Order: sequence, then C-alpha cells, then structure tokens
Amino acid sequence: MNENCVFCNIVAGKIPSAKVYEDNDVLAFMDIGPVMPGHVLVIPKQHFNPIWNLPDDLLAKVLAVAKRIAKVQTEVLGADGVNLFQTNGEAAGQTVPHVHFHVIPRRNGDGAGWAIVPRPYASPAEAAALAERLRNALA
Ligand code: AMP
Ligand code: ZN
Repeated sequence: MNENCVFCNIVAGKIPSAKVYEDNDVLAFMDIGPVMPGHVLVIPKQHFNPIWNLPDDLLAKVLAVAKRIAKVQTEVLGADGVNLFQTNGEAAGQTVPHVHFHVIPRRNGDGAGWAIVPRPYASPAEAAALAERLRNALA
C-alpha cells in the first residue's frame, strides 16, 4: 500500500467509498466526481501505476470486472452506451496515480462526450513512419 495514495486508502478503508464490487484483487466504487450518474471506478487493490506496470493477469481481472459493470449499467441503469476510459500521467489527464478504469454509463444525446478532435497527419508517410517505429518496438 502507498500511504499517500487516495485509492490505496480507499482499499484500506481509511477513506470512505460507495462500493459496487469487491474480490481479493479488484475493487469497484462510485466516482466522487461523476461524469454521469452511475460512473464507477475499477481498480486493482494493489498499487500499480502506470498501466504498463500492472501485471497482465491483474489487468485481465480488472477489465473483466469493468466489463461486467458496463453490462449491468445498461441493464439496471438503462444506459444506452458505456465508455471505458483510462488515463496514464498528468499529460493524459490522470489525477490519481493508481491504475483505474472509468466505467461511465451514457445516454443518447447526454452531451457528456469528450472533445477529441482529430488532427490529421501531413501525409500517409508520416503515419507509416510512426507505425514502423511502434511495430519494431513491439516485435
Ligand atoms: P483520473 O483523472 O483518470 O485520474 O480520474 C481520477 C478520478 O478519481 C476522478 O474522476 C475523481 O473524481 C475520482 N476520485 C478522486 N478521489 C476520489 C474519492 N475519494 N472517491 C471516489 N472517487 C475519487
Ligand atoms: Zn494506490
């Protein structure tokens, strides 16, 4: 546990939360600043950050819970759609540095969408060069 981490303190019960799901490895609770009513955060109980430091087996467990919650949000809350959203680093908007997935129920026309504005490449070659660097690193 990281004593200074808000989410570790929630896992430890030192900071209150409205729990939605809990097992040995995973905790899900209501986001205190919901984008939409029913907005849930799903975390590994152990402290990891960023996501590439989280072991694959734990990531799979966290995502499996997020998937179940997304389905329940449609069935019980009547969501028309669900966003799964995850941040790594301040540049990406992360404010709590403990891996978490946002599971956000959405309604048709709710106006809560993010303004993700595409900025096209100057040429297909620029995309291809970036793809090659990533592909090589992954090989
Ligand atoms: P992010 O910007 O991806 O790091 O998201 C962090 C989220 O944690 C925000 O949506 C906050 O509203 C939420 N949050 C911060 N503190 C708490 C808390 N004590 N209980 C529940 N959610 C929290
Ligand atoms: Zn933590």
